[in-house]
Amino acid sequence: MISIFDKKKEDLKLDFENAGIKGYRVDQLWQAIYVDLSSDFDEIKTLPSEAIDYLKSSHVVSPLQLVVKRKSKDKSTDKYLWKLHDNKLIETVLMRYDEDGHRRRRRTVCISSQVGCALDCKFCATGQQGFSRQLTVGEIVSQVIEIKKDLLIEEGRPFNNENNLNIVFMGMGEPLANYSRTIEAAKRFNDQKGLNIGARNITISTVGLVPKILDLAEENIQVNLAVSIHAPDDDTRSETVPINKTYPITELINACKKYIEITNRKVFFEYVLLQGQNDSISHADKLGRLLKPLMCHLNLIPVNPTLKSNYIRSNSEKINAFREVIDKYGIPSTIRMEKGIDINAGCGQLKSEYIEIEG
Ligand code: SF4
Repeated sequence: MISIFDKKKEDLKLDFENAGIKGYRVDQLWQAIYVDLSSDFDEIKTLPSEAIDYLKSSHVVSPLQLVVKRKSKDKSTDKYLWKLHDNKLIETVLMRYDEDGHRRRRRTVCISSQVGCALDCKFCATGQQGFSRQLTVGEIVSQVIEIKKDLLIEEGRPFNNENNLNIVFMGMGEPLANYSRTIEAAKRFNDQKGLNIGARNITISTVGLVPKILDLAEENIQVNLAVSIHAPDDDTRSETVPINKTYPITELINACKKYIEITNRKVFFEYVLLQGQNDSISHADKLGRLLKPLMCHLNLIPVNPTLKSNYIRSNSEKINAFREVIDKYGIPSTIRMEKGIDINAGCGQLKSEYIEIEG
């Protein structure tokens, strides 16, 4: 059976009308599942019994079944492993950031867009699993719905100021390789009559699918774009990011320039620091020259080591030296310490561990 979150509002309206149920009932259904977060059709008291019977005969609410949920020791991070209807596994991560003087308290949900990934980045646990299939819109959207339910239990109903909830498409998979569903899911998150999460609080990441970056620039949706650059030159980048051979750095940077020109929004560049691979002063210097002309922000991310890769994180001395060079170019940057290392919170790591345990 299909998840209710796989349906657009207009399709549900048609379904209802074909089943002899008034179309306006869909607004009540929408409120119940996206705002009141009902987990069961029987909980929806605003709908007549024939609508509930119809929904139960042809739909399920959530397509996700929880397999494992883990909390980091410092309680800042929860990692969820979900089973889908075909027994495939995906992950979602919730990160809690408390007010630190510069930034407001916020909650970030890192969601998956594919089962596995075909792009095979060498430091990534998901890449090491290969590609299985695309996630549906319902499977993407439900990750946020389920976590929001947990947050409501944890923090109470005042947790309805969506400004402190961020969504990042940085879990398993390349979101722009599942383009139409990623865009539809982002619109669903942003829907004012539903989850009502500000577009500026939604970030879509890509490892560099150039044609899709250009498509995204033309979408009428104000989400953030994060580009995983990870190296300042083709030789270094192709070692860890194979898609660089298809879309080399010059093409990627040109697409980012075009994106900025069309949207007038900055691009967030992600740079995973790998000891001895991309973390030298000369890499930093090249990166500074490359990014200086762009309206952008750089996130430096010490890598989360994975079970099968040989890459280890750069030490803090190297990281700070790298950032000092970037500072000289006037590029705003942040060092983003990965959360939840003790629960394998990096993309694809919990699934890898689970598969190893299950054999
Ligand atoms: S880093 Fe992203 S794009 Fe690369 S293999 Fe992992 S999931 Fe795929």
